[in-house]
Formats: sequence, structure tokens, C-alpha cells
Amino acid sequence: MIKYGYGHQTIDDSDISAVMDVLKSDYLTCGPKIKEFEQEICKYTGAKYCVAVSNATAGLHIAAMATGLSKGDEAITSPITFLSSANCICYTGATPVFADIEEETANISPQEIERHITDKTKVLIPVHFAGQSCDMEAISEIAHKHNLYVIEDAAHAIGSDYKDTKVGSCAYSDMTVFSFHPVKTITTGEGGAITTNNKELYEKLCALRSHGMHKDKDMVETWEYEMRELGYNYRMTDIQAALGISQLKKLDVFKKRRREIVDFYNKNLGIKHLQERKYSNACFHLYPILVKNRRDFYFKARENGLNLQVHYIPVHTQPYYTRFGYKRGDYPKAEQYYSQCISLPLYPSLTDTDLEEIIKRVKEIE
Ligand SMILES: *Cc1c(COP(=O)(O)O)cnc(C)c1O
Repeated sequence: MIKYGYGHQTIDDSDISAVMDVLKSDYLTCGPKIKEFEQEICKYTGAKYCVAVSNATAGLHIAAMATGLSKGDEAITSPITFLSSANCICYTGATPVFADIEEETANISPQEIERHITDKTKVLIPVHFAGQSCDMEAISEIAHKHNLYVIEDAAHAIGSDYKDTKVGSCAYSDMTVFSFHPVKTITTGEGGAITTNNKELYEKLCALRSHGMHKDKDMVETWEYEMRELGYNYRMTDIQAALGISQLKKLDVFKKRRREIVDFYNKNLGIKHLQERKYSNACFHLYPILVKNRRDFYFKARENGLNLQVHYIPVHTQPYYTRFGYKRGDYPKAEQYYSQCISLPLYPSLTDTDLEEIIKRVKEIE
């Protein structure tokens, strides 16, 4: 029996030869492919600046640092996300605050964000769940009103559109962070990127990515550098960047197939699923369905060769987060969603025959 996971990378010969070319070149890291990848991301998203990093978690960390977020501040994110969206707040010493989701999209609710704003709030981190953009106009209005930074966690959402902008254009935010982990829409193995239109943030991000080192044009000696803040080694390699450049060329093809698969499931399954808003044209990363007995469904699916995944355990219920006083019951919509969600296979290499087979197996479980 063919086994299907919920996600899988799509790598072809052109990706492989792009990586081979770098391996035969002089620069495995800190070379020309990084800049080229960053420029391609700028071209695709419409953002002015891009900083490639070792993974999206590192990207979220230095994006949070670049806002000056620190102990005594608060930042707000969604409970329905991967750990990184909240962990990046904790890395800075600030306090993570959650705002409940909208039922129809599982995205953070702007009204709920507003309810949790205090005079300590400094940053909002909306997460574009499953690839669908949050309501960014509403979120940026709240941010302007309260003088907050907005960092978009777009780990799921490269290729997605919000109104007439690309996610990553930062038309409604200060920075956007992408992930190129193999389950995400395009991959570099491990990897991430931050986009911004703000030169000052861009320069901070470049320094934080590489130990806090600065090299200025007016430095007398070419070997000179100054470390002005504590940074990290969060650099991407040229090997990864070359794979990223090659993958980015296929993003729109991947998007088309991902949307076809979602349409097919929507039409043929008859199981409750998330809704796409009018403002969205998502490059879907996940296809979560909502089932009554999720535990039962999960194990029966395994027996049927479907290795599915639950996205996500609400972050505020993790043992680490109880130290901030969070407990089960705090975010009822997120917890209700979690009790029913399970993600079906969604990746471009699924054929129509695969989809028929997956639907047949899902119907056997239901
Ligand atoms: C995958 C993911 C991340 C982390 O990405 P990495 O590149 O693995 O660090 C962050 N946020 C969300 C929502 C994710 O799905």
C-alpha cells in the first residue's frame, strides 16, 4: 500500500544541478548566491530588502530583537502555530501573550488582539495559518493606533496574496519571516528569510545574523570590523541559497497545483474544512479538516497508509508556557479547533490518481 504523509518536498534535476554547481565553486558560504537569492525574494514579494537566515526560528528571533523587544515588554501571537512564533518572544526576555483565533480560518482574530493590548505591548506576530494571510489591514490599523511593530510569521505563506499584495511585501507590516523547511512550500533543507522595507531594520538584521559585526565604508583598514551588539551565527549557506533560487522559480507552479488539490478536496470530501476569505489568494501549505473523533481518525488513517499530522497543539498549553500563568480553557476557540483538526496530504507531486485514492481511504475512515 502506498503511504502518504501530510507534506513532502518537490525536488527535480534542475534543483540538484544548482546545488552541484555551488559545490564545485569557490564559495560554500558567504558567497554570491546569498545576495542573488535575497534579490529574487525581493523581486517576487515586492519588498525592498531581504535577509536570508539559517531557519525561520532564527529569523523570528532577530526580527524580534531588531524591534528592541526585551524584558518587561509584551508581544502578541496566535496559540494555533508552531512553537517558534511564541518562543522568539521568550528569547528576548519579553512576555508572550496570545490572542484567540477566528473559527473559519484558524487565523489570529484582530478583535482578540485588541482585547489583549496593554501599555507593555510592543510587537504583534500574526501567523498566516495554512498559507492564508491574516486580515493584515485590520492588524496594521491596530498597530498604528497603539504604536506597535508587526512581524508576519509567513512560514506557511510564501506565494500567497493578500488583497493586491504578495505576502512578504510588508505593505502592512515591518518585517515578514519565511521558512524553507522541507515540509514548507519551497525548501532549502533548513532555511529562512526576512523581508522588510525599512533600511534601519535591514541593517540591524544583517548585523544580528552575523555576530553583531559591522563593517562601515569609512573604516580605514579592510580587515576592520566592530561588534556593536551581541549577535549570532544565523547565516544561510550558498548551497542552500542556490537550492532556494531554483525552488523559487517553481513557486507559482507549486501554488497552482496546491490550489487545485484544495479545490478537489473541498468539492469531493464533504468534510468540514477552513474557509478562504475574499481578500485571500493563498498558496496553501496545509489542508486541515475538522473531525468529531480526531484520535480515532488519526489511528485509523495510519492503518490506511495516511500518516497525517495535527497542526497544532495550542502553544499556551505547553508545559513551558504554564510559567506565564496560561492554562487549558484560556483560549476556547483555539482549543476547540485543536480538538478536531487533522491535516490531509497536500504537496504538488500528488497526482489525480493519488487524490482519488486518498479520498477513498478517508471515506473508509469517516
Ligand atoms: C515551520 C514554522 C516555523 C519555523 O520554521 P523553521 O524554518 O523550521 O525554523 C515558524 N513558524 C511557523 C508557523 C512554522 O510553521
